[in-house]
Amino acid sequence: MSDLENLYQELIIDHGKNPRNFGKLVDAVDKEGFNPLCGDKIILHVSEKDGVICNAKFEGNGCAISMASASMMLEALLGKNIQDFQNLFDEFHHLVTTGKSLHDNSNLEKLTVFSGVSEFPMRVKCATLAWHTFSALIKEHL
Ligand code: ZN
Repeated sequence: MSDLENLYQELIIDHGKNPRNFGKLVDAVDKEGFNPLCGDKIILHVSEKDGVICNAKFEGNGCAISMASASMMLEALLGKNIQDFQNLFDEFHHLVTTGKSLHDNSNLEKLTVFSGVSEFPMRVKCATLAWHTFSALIKEHL
C-alpha cells in the first residue's frame, strides 16, 4: 500500500472513530436513512436559510465508512447551497462507483479518500448512505 493510500485510510478511520458534526440540532429538519446491507443507520439534522446550509449534524451508528462519509460530507457542505450539494453528490457518486473524478477540477477535496470504495461494490451503499439521506431530506423539506 502506498503512503498516500495509507493517509487516505487514516482519514476515514479518524472520521469513523471521531465523527465531526455529530449530535442533535434543534430548529432543524431531520431525515433518517438506513442501509440494510450493512446495518448502517443515520439521522441527519439540517438547518437551512435562504438556500444555504448554515448548520448540520448527524447521529447514528454503523461501519467506519458510513460514519466517516457522513462526517466528511457535512464538513464539506456547511456554508454551501442546495445546488452545491447536488453537484458534489454527482461527483462523489461517480468517484465511489468508478474510482475516478468526474471533472478535471474536482470539488471533492478530502472526500477523494473514498475513491478506494469503488473496488468494494458492497461498500458503495455505506459510503453513499449519508448522501442519499441528504438528498431525500432536500426533496422532502427544502
Ligand atoms: Zn456500512
